[in-house]
Amino acid sequence: MILAGAGPGDPELVTLKTVRYLQQADVVLTDRLVSNELLEAHVPERAQIVYVGKQCRRGASTPQETINELLVEYALQGKLVVRLKGGDVSVFSNILDELHTLVEHQIPYEIIPGVTAALGASAYAGIPLTARGYTKAVRLLTCYKSDVITDAYWEELARTDDTLVFYMSSETLDHIVTNLVQRNIAADKWLAIAEQATTSLQHVHITSLYEYERTLKGREFISPAIVIIGKVVRLYEQFQWRANSNSREHYFKPLVRQDIDEPATNGLLRHGELPQHIPAADDTAHQPVLLPASAAVVQTNTGPQAENAVKEHEHVSRA
Ligand code: SAH
Repeated sequence: MILAGAGPGDPELVTLKTVRYLQQADVVLTDRLVSNELLEAHVPERAQIVYVGKQCRRGASTPQETINELLVEYALQGKLVVRLKGGDVSVFSNILDELHTLVEHQIPYEIIPGVTAALGASAYAGIPLTARGYTKAVRLLTCYKSDVITDAYWEELARTDDTLVFYMSSETLDHIVTNLVQRNIAADKWLAIAEQATTSLQHVHITSLYEYERTLKGREFISPAIVIIGKVVRLYEQFQWRANSNSREHYFKPLVRQDIDEPATNGLLRHGELPQHIPAADDTAHQPVLLPASAAVVQTNTGPQAENAVKEHEHVSRA
């Protein structure tokens, strides 16, 4: 079992080691925030690609339990499995659950790092995260919902000179800015938000925190987006090297919920095929199967059906 980081988006931001394993893989279990271009370039035709995405707040997510079951299922069949995660494998990912599962089942594994979104986004925005003379440290944080950070910690975040990078926090951006401004964060610390960083659709916005209401408030950011706050942000004005894309297209396709019992898709979707029927997002009567809205090679399954589905997919792929 190979647990590998796929990098933040640009399909070339991946290690040689991960590429080598992808080329040898029998099965690739991949997250939503993994470049399809990367999969298409390196995963051989004979290998299976299983989408086990999670999508914060959007409802359509593969339960972690299902992912764990699949990892075990495939590994016990003696297959070379690559579990591919966006960015780095261990930064804001559920690697711990997966490691527990692998150890419990005595499945040998390797962990291969990836370029995490903070590093990808800052590089592709020309913002050196710990530029000398500006700051001595960087913190990787999340504020995915408003009660994640305590009042005392907001005080600390407003005072520190460390660069702050917030993952999974574009939807709580108003809350972040309000908390820092209320606590009189220094005016020379600015905010950058990078949408779809390092992909061909990257768009970076920067603003003073004190002008945020006028400049960015109310804007809907395209997922994924990452927030950088600190004195270093204004270096963007001098050192940005990537033109903003003004397309509102999504590089990573949103997940859609699919009914596992639906005959049209109860098996392997081949290249270019899309589900015939997409139940409403609130239709929770059935186990969800997740597909990216534009799928290359797709198969996935959930819960107790995992075992059968795995067998069935093998059958399909041999056919
Ligand atoms: N393991 C990943 C993080 C997963 S959490 C990593 O190391 O990067 C998902 C969050 O990562 C998103 O909500 C977003 O904040 C950030 N992210 C991932 N890819 C990104 C990208 N290409 N551009 C901007 N933010 C990204």
